[in-house]
Amino acid sequence: TITCLGLDLNGNLSGVTTTSGLAFKIPGRVGDSPIIGAGLYVDNEVGACGSTGRGEENLKNLSSYQVVEYMREGYSPEEACKKVLKRVIDHAKLPNLKNKKGLPSFSLKLYAVNKKGEFGAASIYGPTDFAVFDGKENKKYDCA
Ligand code: ASP
Repeated sequence: TITCLGLDLNGNLSGVTTTSGLAFKIPGRVGDSPIIGAGLYVDNEVGACGSTGRGEENLKNLSSYQVVEYMREGYSPEEACKKVLKRVIDHAKLPNLKNKKGLPSFSLKLYAVNKKGEFGAASIYGPTDFAVFDGKENKKYDCA
């Protein structure tokens, strides 16, 4: 999955997510990427959030929507992403979603930007960097 969030010079937010879905997916599976609120959500008054990773967990938690709602409450993008990943982990009750140590057995990342242009991301496992283009250059950051 690729998530791309934008804030233009006029202060307008945008977002897009594109994906091939999960490896070995069941034919006909619809992941989180095309479901607004799950894999992507943009509120031009507040912020935008997108995601990569196990889409089922985003569908169950409306993760991207919830990140934007936490930013509306005043949380920074990174704090909002971390709060939602904690919620996702707390909700992952099925035995096959936790390993023997009780930790999540799936990968999930959330990326967010707010109206002020502050950005952040958080990850459960997996590659943890993301890129930001500030109008002049690309920079690489690590997810929390
Ligand atoms: N989120 C995608 C899905 O569940 C998969 C991915 O991010 O690679 O369809």
